Amino acid sequence: MQNGINSPLSEFFRQINITTLRIPSIRITDVIDIVLVALLIYIVIHWIKETRAWTLFRGLIIIVIVSMLSYYLHFYTLTWIIEKTLSVGVIAVIIIFQPELRKALEQIGTGAVTGVSGILSTPVTGGKITAETANEIYKACVNLSAERTGALIVIEQHVPMGDVAKSTGVNIDGDVSAQLLQNIFVNKTPLHDGAAIIRNNKIAAASCILPVTQKEIGQELGTRHRAAVGGSENSDAYFIVVSEETGKISIAKEGRLRKGVSAQELKATLEKIADGGKSPAININMIWKGKGKNEK
Ligand code: ATP
Ligand code: MG
Repeated sequence: MQNGINSPLSEFFRQINITTLRIPSIRITDVIDIVLVALLIYIVIHWIKETRAWTLFRGLIIIVIVSMLSYYLHFYTLTWIIEKTLSVGVIAVIIIFQPELRKALEQIGTGAVTGVSGILSTPVTGGKITAETANEIYKACVNLSAERTGALIVIEQHVPMGDVAKSTGVNIDGDVSAQLLQNIFVNKTPLHDGAAIIRNNKIAAASCILPVTQKEIGQELGTRHRAAVGGSENSDAYFIVVSEETGKISIAKEGRLRKGVSAQELKATLEKIADGGKSPAININMIWKGKGKNEK
């Protein structure tokens, strides 16, 4: 068994001299450093999985594997091509993922990405709705659903939606009532197309155009649902969709769509928002529990 004795593993252990082995000292700053790096890796992986970057990430892994194989198998031309492509590729990735990178930076700025930056950001005052507003939205959605009138209602939270309202919609600035909301979405009226945005207990604007998601959300769902999910990828608002085709109510939040929620579920969600349900995308508590941001 001469072979076993000369194996790299036994060689490794032979080189370790027990008498000179020292346990490295760990300072509190090292612990903090490790925790911060772990947090950072978690946030980046989470971000990658939530965006188009996931596909890119898989592509990169394949490229890395192919380039390693081609290097070890001495495929010189292939290695040369991969090397040259990668140097240009970094710039290409930055250009292709400019919207995602911008969004990530914006989220860090608004404190929506981490509890840490949430603590650092200025205290949030607006964003919440009163119980009356919540109840009016609830009544409107139930009635719209019963009538099968398509609707998209945005309830702004901490990320301001003012630019979307101003640049794409029609200013309303009216008190929230079920009647007004229902009226906005009546088919063939000038304001029914697009989303109504509720901010600070007012219907700020209607007919707003939201960015549609590129994600796969189900073949049966069209642009209204895509706009709700797309909007929720870009802000922390709640997006309530009433389907014209089925009358079903769905809620999009932070890139995820809860399809076909019951009236009770809608009520519970609206009451949570009225309570001022805190919704940083990822908070320390959730990371500790290993939960996703929308899991209950
Ligand atoms: P439904 O179940 O109500 O049919 P859907 O998801 O199948 O919804 P469509 O049938 O394509 O979607 O709905 C079209 C309506 O969605 C448009 O009339 C418009 O009011 C709304 N809509 C489409 N694109 C956007 C957008 N980018 N922003 C806001 N609203 C949009
Ligand atoms: Mg449709």
